[in-house]
Amino acid sequence: MTILIEKHKSLERGDTEPGLYIVATPIGNLGDITLRALQILHKSDLVACEDTRVTRRLLSHYNIKVPTTSYNDHNAKKVIPRIIKLLQSGKIVALVSDAGTPLISDPGYRLVLAAISKNIPITAAPGPVAAVAALTIAGLPTDKFLFIGFLPTKKGAKKNYLKEIKNIQATLVFYESSQRLIETLYDMTEYLGNRSAAVMREITKKFEETKRGSLKELADQFSEEGAPRGEIVIIVSSLEPIKMSDQEIDVLITKELVNNTLRDSVNIVAQSSGRARREVYKRALIISKK
Ligand code: SAM
Repeated sequence: MTILIEKHKSLERGDTEPGLYIVATPIGNLGDITLRALQILHKSDLVACEDTRVTRRLLSHYNIKVPTTSYNDHNAKKVIPRIIKLLQSGKIVALVSDAGTPLISDPGYRLVLAAISKNIPITAAPGPVAAVAALTIAGLPTDKFLFIGFLPTKKGAKKNYLKEIKNIQATLVFYESSQRLIETLYDMTEYLGNRSAAVMREITKKFEETKRGSLKELADQFSEEGAPRGEIVIIVSSLEPIKMSDQEIDVLITKELVNNTLRDSVNIVAQSSGRARREVYKRALIISKK
């Protein structure tokens, strides 16, 4: 296997080397763009955008006058050869999407593959991603998370997918349209179980809103209020450990006490049983004195 090593000179001096740049743009608030992204866009010979009208608004806000072209999943086959030709002649091409980071539930993957196959340097200019912004404010564990993006829209496929991911031990991150939100929250309650969750709407925008609660509480609240407007991320907590009964934890404690100290046994059992440490400690004390 050939390992390709790409060398990039520092961009701090204002240099932008030829190649393909994957540039993240704001998910709402136009201020959320990096200085480096602006610098790359300024220097680009071509900006490939999902929707040229959307990107033109961003470019004109920052007074950037560069040619744009539409790049999406429908025209990729036709547009990629043109972009690759430009890149091979030493030009700078930036890829942006309507919002956030290209390739994240957005077009770009095929262009990146084509550039790799032609040995063209590819550089990321990172920035906003709705999924990550939502995770940081949801109030649910962020140590391990799985980005799911959009669920299948057909009822049967959606149900099967939710059942498939049910046992994954990670916080789950979904994108969803506002019209489907209520139905999806009820489906999640049914197939994932009634877990802790958060719904983030219109992040960084004027009507930004976060609601936290169990999946069922959120579903009921939104159905009472009516479907909200705008863009939505749903964060769902990991599979919550099933709480073991007193009898079940007594068995575990007895087993752990054979090889461990009281303290270690309590910690191990509290973690695996979903029971509070002080409850486990109380029972462990009784067992250890028998
Ligand atoms: N590439 C984008 C990113 O980096 O997050 C995602 C593009 S995907 C086509 C659009 C979906 O992202 C929306 O339907 C919504 O679920 C989510 N999204 C984008 N912007 C958002 C925002 N400001 N607030 C909440 N969700 C947002």
